[in-house]
Amino acid sequence: MVTNTEVKELGHFINGEIVAGTSGHFSDVFNPSLGAVIARVPIATKEEVQSAIATAKAAFPAWRALSIGKRVEIVMKFRQLMTARMDALIDIICIESGKTIEDAKGEITRGLESVDLAINAPHLLKGEYSVNVGGNINAYSAKAPLGVVAAISPFNFPVMVPLAITTMAVAVGNSVILKPSERVPCSALFLSELWKEAGLPDGVWTVINGDKDAVNELLENPAIEAISFVGSTVVADYIYTTGSKYGKRVTALGGGKNNMIVMPDADLEQVANAFLGAAYGAASQRCMAISTIIPVGEETANKLVKVLADKIAKLKVGPYTDSDVDFGPVITKQSKDAIIGFIDRSLEEGATLVCDGRNPDIAKNSNGFYLGPTLLDNVKPGMEIYEQEVFGPARNVVRVDTLEQAIDLINAHELGNGVTIFTNNGAAARKFITEIDVGMVGVNVPIPIPVGYHNFGGWKRSRFGEGHMFGPDQARFFTKTKTISEKWFEENSESASTFAFPSN
Ligand code: NAD
Repeated sequence: MVTNTEVKELGHFINGEIVAGTSGHFSDVFNPSLGAVIARVPIATKEEVQSAIATAKAAFPAWRALSIGKRVEIVMKFRQLMTARMDALIDIICIESGKTIEDAKGEITRGLESVDLAINAPHLLKGEYSVNVGGNINAYSAKAPLGVVAAISPFNFPVMVPLAITTMAVAVGNSVILKPSERVPCSALFLSELWKEAGLPDGVWTVINGDKDAVNELLENPAIEAISFVGSTVVADYIYTTGSKYGKRVTALGGGKNNMIVMPDADLEQVANAFLGAAYGAASQRCMAISTIIPVGEETANKLVKVLADKIAKLKVGPYTDSDVDFGPVITKQSKDAIIGFIDRSLEEGATLVCDGRNPDIAKNSNGFYLGPTLLDNVKPGMEIYEQEVFGPARNVVRVDTLEQAIDLINAHELGNGVTIFTNNGAAARKFITEIDVGMVGVNVPIPIPVGYHNFGGWKRSRFGEGHMFGPDQARFFTKTKTISEKWFEENSESASTFAFPSN
C-alpha cells in the first residue's frame, strides 16, 4: 500500500533557490492513489510573478552571451543528473499523479528525447549565409533568443511536457519561467534542483506555482516574449487569444479526441491488444489516448466488441505500488465524479454498457480516485460523450459501414490531435493518411506520438498558433531571426551616395 502521508509545504523556485510563497494561499496536492493530501502548493500573487519575471530578465543578458557550447554543456549535465536520479523522479511522478512505475519511466524516457534535442541546439541554430549578394555585401541570418519566455503545463505529464516546452528554450539562450500544474508541482521543483546542480546560472530557470492569476500575469506582463502552453482546449484558446492580444508569440496545445479505425481485414487480436494500452493507459489521462474505436462494418464491430469485453474484464486498476496494475487512479475526486457523470448521461442518450468501471473493487476499500475501465457501445455523434474530451477511462465504440464514413466523422469533429487506422490494406491506409484532417496520424500504431526530434501537435482546436511541441519547431519558436548585410571597405576605396532603392 502507498503510505506516504506527510504534508509538505512547497515553494517557488526563484533566483536559484526554493522560496516560500507569500500570498498565504495554498492549493492541496493529492496522492491520488490514497486520496490523501501530501503537500500544499503556494498560489503566487501578481506581485510574486512580477518579481520572478524581474529576476529572469536580469539573468538573460549573461545567459545569452554565453557560448552555445557552454550552454549545451549545462544541458548535458542536467541530462546526466536526470538519469542518475531517475528512481527518485519516478517516485515523485507516481506519488503525485498516480501513474504506474512503468508508465512514469516511459514518460521520463520520452522527456529525455527533448533534452537530447536541446543538446543538438548548435546544429538547429545554424543560420544561412550568402556571399556577395551585390557590391561585395555578404548576407547572413542568425537566430537570437527571445528573452524571458513562459511555459505553462498540464497535470498529466508532470515531467515530459515541462521538458518538452522548456529545455530547448533554455539551450538557445532564453530565461524560462515554468508555471506547472498546481496538481503536480513536485516534479517541476525536483527538475529545478537538477538545473541548479547542473550549473545553470541563477534566474535562468524559474518555477512559479499558482493558478489562473499567475498565468494572467505571464500573459499580460510586457517582459514576457513568448508563451508555450499545453493543457485543455478551453484554456488553450484563452491563452492563445489573450497572449496574442498582448503581443506575445504563443503556441497553445489543447485537448484531443482520438480515434482508432478498424478495417474488416485487421487482425482483431492485435487491434484489441493495441487498443487496451492506448485507450486505458494512465487511466486514459493522455491527450493522445484513444477515446473512440470505430470498427468498419457490422461483423467487424460485433467480433471486436466481444474480444474487447473479454480483455477489458481482466485489466487491473490499483496503486503504483502494486507491480501488476495496468493503470492507476484519476487525478482528483472531481475528475472521477465528472467521468461517472459522462457515463451516466451517455446511457440516458442511448449508449450501451459493455464494461462498467464506475465502481471498481478497489474503490470499496480505498479513498483513492479509482475508476475501472468502461466501454460504451453504440455511441453516436451528437452525444456528449462523443463530442467532448473525457479525461478518464470511459471509452466509446462508434459503428460505421464504410471507411469514408469513418473519415468524415473524424474530420467533422472540432478536435484533431491524434488518429490511427488498423488495416492490412495499403490502399485504405493511403486514402486515410491523405484525407484525414488530424495532426498526428498512425497506421497500425496505436498512439502515434512523434519521436522527440519530430514536431508534435494536433490540428483544428487541438492546437492554437503555429508552433509545435518537441522537434525542430522548438528551436524556431524560442528564437527570432536576425538578418545581417555586411560589407568591409578596402583601404582608400571610393564610395558614392545612391538614392535609388538598393538592388544587386
Ligand atoms: P488545464 O487546461 O486545466 O490546465 C493546464 C494549465 O493551465 C495548468 O498549469 C493550469 O494551472 C492552467 N490553467 C487552468 N485553468 C486556467 C485558466 N482558466 N486560466 C489560465 N490558466 C489556467 O489542463 P489539465 O487538466 O491540467 O490537463 C489535461 C488537459 O491537457 C487535457 O485536455 C489534455 O488533453 C491536455 N493535454 C494536451 C496535450 C497536447 O499535447 N495537446 C498534452 C498533455 C495534455
